Amino acid sequence: MAQEKFEFRSETKELLQLMAHSLYSSKDVFLRELVSNASDALDRRRFEALTDPSKLSDGEKLEIRIHADKAKHTLTIEDNGDGMTKEDMIKNLGTIAHSGTKAFVEQLKKAENQEQANHLIGQFGVGFYSAFIVADDVTVTSKRAGQDKAFTFRSTGDGAYTIEDTEKDGVGTTIVLNLRQSDEEDQLSDFTDDYMIKSTIKKYSDFVQYPIMVECEHQHHREGVEEAEGHDSSTCNDPTHMVTEKVWEQANSMKAIWLKNASEVTDEEYNEFYKHITYDWTDPLLRLNVKAEGTMEYRGLLFIPSHAPYDMNYRDAKYGLRLHAQHVLIMEQCAELLPDYLRFVKGVIDSADLNLNLSREILQKDRSIVTIKKHITKKILDLLNSTMENDPEKYTKFWDSYSRLIKEGAASDYDNKDRLLKLMKFVSTFTVAEDEKAAAEKKDDESKKPQKSQTTFAEYIKRMAPDQDSIYAITGESLEVVKNSPHLEAFKQKGYEVLYLIDPYDEILFSQITEFDGKKIVFIGRGEVELGNEEEKKEQREKLETQQKDYNDLLKKLETCLGSEVESVRLSSRLTTSPACLVGLDGDVSPHLQRLISKMNNMNAPISKRVLEVNPNHPLLQKLQARFAANADDAMIPKYAQLLFSQSLLAEGSPLPDPVEYTKLVTELMVDSLS
Ligand code: ADP
Repeated sequence: MAQEKFEFRSETKELLQLMAHSLYSSKDVFLRELVSNASDALDRRRFEALTDPSKLSDGEKLEIRIHADKAKHTLTIEDNGDGMTKEDMIKNLGTIAHSGTKAFVEQLKKAENQEQANHLIGQFGVGFYSAFIVADDVTVTSKRAGQDKAFTFRSTGDGAYTIEDTEKDGVGTTIVLNLRQSDEEDQLSDFTDDYMIKSTIKKYSDFVQYPIMVECEHQHHREGVEEAEGHDSSTCNDPTHMVTEKVWEQANSMKAIWLKNASEVTDEEYNEFYKHITYDWTDPLLRLNVKAEGTMEYRGLLFIPSHAPYDMNYRDAKYGLRLHAQHVLIMEQCAELLPDYLRFVKGVIDSADLNLNLSREILQKDRSIVTIKKHITKKILDLLNSTMENDPEKYTKFWDSYSRLIKEGAASDYDNKDRLLKLMKFVSTFTVAEDEKAAAEKKDDESKKPQKSQTTFAEYIKRMAPDQDSIYAITGESLEVVKNSPHLEAFKQKGYEVLYLIDPYDEILFSQITEFDGKKIVFIGRGEVELGNEEEKKEQREKLETQQKDYNDLLKKLETCLGSEVESVRLSSRLTTSPACLVGLDGDVSPHLQRLISKMNNMNAPISKRVLEVNPNHPLLQKLQARFAANADDAMIPKYAQLLFSQSLLAEGSPLPDPVEYTKLVTELMVDSLS
């Protein structure tokens, strides 16, 4: 086959430039990425050989070899992993960022700092392309196990690449980097220096489970000279007496980091291990060493990434922990070790009690796996709880990224429901007021960002008024809308805190889970409310009964005027300053959520009818009552009814069914009052 030429996608060049730029200060990561790919390829070859032993001949040692050529200024990374066919090369090396180069380039441009950039690079999987940070020409020669043909991929990373067939002895991949000359003067990035190579391997890839052999130059004194001339070879510095010899040295310890005690491992080592197994370029947010001895023996190392993966909410996204049986990796993504909602947790579990031939089919039923899953779930939730207590800032980061999954957990993991509820945080009337106070105090201090504090259920309960028996919550589209909702009035007046549930998922969740720590969770936008102690409630009831008598006929009239738009019209005990509001029936879904569900299902379902509550203490109602008493057939009354209804919709952030009609009515009334 002659050489074939291929074009990269159009964004490639720009992407490579952006990458080279954002990674300039940590160029050496390219070696981590290439070693990581080689290690993955070796894993795959070993897997394949398990079912088809012919894929790995007896005595062939799986390893990674690295050697430099100072004269040619090249660096070669070689593995005897599973190798690539021509098609594999086109698919894997010809497409950067498989999940959408364009989207990636856009996001990378927007990245505000190194950490964000790294995180993006890791997520989109551009590992191989990091080679172009240090090389202006990259050659990949590869032979797939079980095939005769080998192929060479060559690119200067500027828009095109070529593939041609070639000869290669063994199975696997050899990558030759033509190092950029401009880096030569830069001592810190001379990757032809074997010391530099070895220390980079040590730094990033010490735990890789295959030997990483680096070719090193050793100088020693020529034998024989000593005796002949009677001088001391250990102090001799005559260059003509010295010989240079090339030897292979293993640069990594291969020690399984998860088997070491935490005190023997540095944070950096843990973080590099995390990056090795996840392809993430950012340090993890949290880390957990797990260990069990006795009836069930295992050790493990778990991590929570700093950022939620972008595909976290896709049902079919792959996840799971690396599973080792007796220190041998038997599965890269064992989902059975984690409940679904903890799918963001990464790491390794290594058990002495597992069978090496454990198959996917029997995993779910395997008693050891079930026990480990239960145990680590509890450990992870404990870690989150202690982080919440001891490192609130870190916990906030966690909550910002993963709140949805914790809520998903509360709805699905009955055994851990209470633990999960304790981890939840919400904005509330209290936290908003606190933040506003803090903002006012440091108005002039521009450096401080406005904060958005949140409260847990436990903190809420601590602040509850002595006569308050329930946890109150209001649902809505956004903080701005719910903050001014008329439904809050009586609660604010009583000094009762109300949680703002602005994530639509909250309403669904708390329709299933109706209490925390014995306290009922009450949605204040539905049903009737009675606040205060028994005496106050009784007083309220009596007052409402008397008012009811006075207003009875007007309420009936309003009901007829509004017809099918409302369920009924009644007097309100939840309003203090607004004239009216709409409330749902007990067990109703809020109009906001109904609209959302409709939209998701692409239909235009009618919003269920609600009760119009009017405020008997408001001058508007009092004057309307007087007008009605004077003339029950006053033509203005149906118009006022319509306006009260529309205004209640507006106040809760709902759209008006007929805005034109509403405007007409308001104009008419303005004219009326001016004349
Ligand atoms: P990622 O490793 O995140 O998938 P890369 O750009 O680093 O992204 O690699 C793309 C793909 O190329 C890999 O998933 C793998 O299939 C293939 N590949 C890269 N290096 C090797 C190698 N040394 N041996 C075999 N396949 C490789």
